[in-house]
Formats: sequence, structure tokens, C-alpha cells
Amino acid sequence: MANYVASIGMEVHAELATRSKMFCRCPVAFGGEPNTRVCPVCLGLPGSLPVPNRQAIEMVIRTALALNCKIAMHSVFHRKNYFYPDLPKGYQVSQYGETNPLGYHGWLELANGKRIGIRRVHLEEDTGKLMHLPNGGAGVDYNRAGVPLMEIVTDFPPDITNEEEAKDYLVELRQILVWLGVCDGKMEEGSLRCEPNISIRPEGTETLGTKSELKNLNSFRSVQLGVQFEIRRQAATLDAGGTLLQETRGWNEANESSYAMRIKETENDYRYFPDPDLIPMVFDDAYIEGLRNAMPELPLAKSQRYQRDFGLSIKDAERLLQDRETAEFFEEAVAMKGDPKGICNLMISEFAKQLNEAGLSPRQSNISPAHLVQLANLLASDTINSKVGKEVFAEAFKSGAMPDAIVDERSLRQIDDHGPIVESVKAVLAANAEVVERYRGGQTGVAGFLVGQVMKMGQGRFNPQLVQQLVREELERT
Ligand SMILES: [Zn+2]
Repeated sequence: MANYVASIGMEVHAELATRSKMFCRCPVAFGGEPNTRVCPVCLGLPGSLPVPNRQAIEMVIRTALALNCKIAMHSVFHRKNYFYPDLPKGYQVSQYGETNPLGYHGWLELANGKRIGIRRVHLEEDTGKLMHLPNGGAGVDYNRAGVPLMEIVTDFPPDITNEEEAKDYLVELRQILVWLGVCDGKMEEGSLRCEPNISIRPEGTETLGTKSELKNLNSFRSVQLGVQFEIRRQAATLDAGGTLLQETRGWNEANESSYAMRIKETENDYRYFPDPDLIPMVFDDAYIEGLRNAMPELPLAKSQRYQRDFGLSIKDAERLLQDRETAEFFEEAVAMKGDPKGICNLMISEFAKQLNEAGLSPRQSNISPAHLVQLANLLASDTINSKVGKEVFAEAFKSGAMPDAIVDERSLRQIDDHGPIVESVKAVLAANAEVVERYRGGQTGVAGFLVGQVMKMGQGRFNPQLVQQLVREELERT
């Protein structure tokens, strides 16, 4: 069996989070009664004229900037002609050409530093949806027809070489789109769709092999499994002396296998030409620079900054960067002179747990950045120990009361005085004479039990390190 090298190109379609469709004022939403969000424009009725959605164009340019692309200062829409029942006009408005798409020649950097080249970021419109009806017939729902769709295509030849990288690319791209607010990223609802194309070639050769394209992938997992499956299927075919076809293949989620759908069309089949109903888009430098300057700091840059400036681990940083709201919440707390590490610990443990249980986002909860700063300070100064910290947090989460006030009201401050602790240690040792004997007989492990008993007497308020130290000292005496 020969060794092969894989090349994986990624085509990602993202439905833009605009209020209305690309060329008409029909609202954009998921689900609903079929054909209730349609009009003469998105149904392609004769005589109707399209008006481009400015917000959608801006979203694509912002994405292109985030992906380090060049921006086409003059860009046109083309008609991509083909017949399919979900395409009412008989063509799809799209953008053709090497440097005509709104964004081209960029790259996305993976967390490991590898750059994945981006060939183009263009704007088009979505198609309708074919539906199988309960009576065995078929119908078509045009609610989705004309929804603004952004297509992001990786470079050729591809930089991605295995299923792991394919998944990482998609995870990171999705995070950027959600971060920019240009797409909701819901793969299960089809607002983010990925079609990888895969080819393999024998190790040491240059010419790319025949590629297959995978359709119907709706999760990160299926992208990873699908690419892996195709690499293995193609290798097995070549090893058996077979030839590969350039084809489009479907993905069967249940069997975790791909199946042939159709032989792939070539670009010529689509007879692209500029759409005569749509005037060219022309931008000036001031507009593009304005968008560039208004860009938020992106997740990867934030992660690197959190690690560098706050001493967070990459894992902790990534947990804070799962969404923009969480990251901004964290940064607000740090800006109030909070200890970054302590605040991060609260956010990824107690806060995350309570939010998850309550089904809330940080801003929807009773907790503000100021709560986190106070609690982190109470813990860092040993005013309360971590066990009490959890109780205080739970109380603050429930009532919105400030941690300082809860600690005062319930007299929860940690006791650091030797006096009361020594008294309790003596009492516990006296009440557990037989355990003390076992300790002195060499079973030093039993000290933990005695420490626990002392902590109990102190109702969790004794300084745990001090209790440990004093129990040991008392045990070693005589
Ligand atoms: Zn419409």
C-alpha cells in the first residue's frame, strides 16, 4: 500500500444575519410556514427588479478584512445559470472571477500558527428548499430563496492536509463570523454549511489527484469524519488499481460513509455573465478604511493578548473567548483593577456552571463584573476560603447582593487567629484519642480526618492552611 498526501479545499456558505433578503425586503428567519416570506423579486417573477442589501455587502467586506483579504474596489454580480426547482429565477446571483469577489487573496491563521490561504470571499443569494411531503409527494419552500449568502473558499492548491486541520479551520472560521455578528453560526439550522473537497496523491509527487466534493455536512464532527472517510476511500480505490471520478458525494450521517451523487459540473456549464439588472459596486478608500478601523479585536489576537498580558493558559483564554459577550465581561472586570487570573477562575468554574444550569448568558444574570472583582479580591486576600467563596457566589447569583455585603451579613470572614483554632484542634484531638493513637503508630494519613473535624467545628471559616499546620503541630507534640 502506497503512502498518500491529502489536499483539502474548503467551501463554506454562511447565511448573513441581515434583517431582510439580498435583493428584496422579505424578512430573513429560520423555519415558519413554507412560502410565507416571498415576493415577486425573490420568486423571480417577470418585471421585478432587485435592489442590493447594503448591510449584506458591508458584512462580507468586514469578513474579508478579518480574513486578511484584498478588497475589490470595483465588484460586480454575475448570473450563474442552471436549472433546479429550488431556484425560481433559473439563475443564482453570485460573483465570478479571480479578483472580482468582494474579498480575495487572504488567509486565516490557525491556533498553531499555520496560515490557511483564502482564495475568495464573495456574496450571493441562497436557494429555496425542496421538501418531501408526508403524502409521498414533493414541494418547494422559497422562504430561503434570496437570503444573502457569503461563500468563503480556501486557496488552490489547498493548505489543509488532514481532517483535524479541516475541522480546526471550520471551528475558527465560525468563531470569527459569530464574533463579527455576520452569521449566527448555527450549523444544525443550515446557516453555516461546509463542503470540503478532497484529493490524495502519492507521497513525493506534485500533481494533485482527482477530487471529490462532500455535501450535506452539518456539524464539525461530520466534517472531520467525512474528510477522513474520503481520504481512506480514495486510498483504497487507488490501492486496488481503480480510478477516481471527479464527483459530488453525499454524507450519510447514520452510516458515517459517503455515497456518489453526481459527476461534478465544470464552471463552463454555468454560463456566467454580469447581471444586467445590478449596477457595479464601487467603493472608495475612506469607506474601506472606516470599516477596517471599526473592526473588533479578533479571537486569536485576544487569546494571544490574554496569555501574554494576563498570564492565562491557552485553554483558559479559549474558554473566555467562546463568545464575545463572555470576553467583554471578563475584560470589564479586569479593567476595574480585578486580578485577571482570579476573575478567569471564577468565570470558567462557578459562573459558567451557574449560567449553564440557569440557561442564561453573563449579562442576563444577576452578576456584574463588579461582583467578580469583589469576590476574587475576597479570595485572594484570604478573607474567605474557596469553599465559602462558592457559597457567596451562589448567593450573589441568586439575589444579586454584593459579595462584601454577603460576607459581612453572614459573618463569613475567614478566621486566622490561632486562639480559637488551637482550642478546636485540642477539642477534636481529645475527642478522637484512638485516631491520634493510630497517627502516632505511623498511620499519618488519618491527619486529614482530624483536619476535617476541626474545619467542621469552625463551620468552614477557619483558614484551612493554618488548621493543617496546627493539627500537625499538636499531633507531633509529646
Ligand atoms: Zn422577496
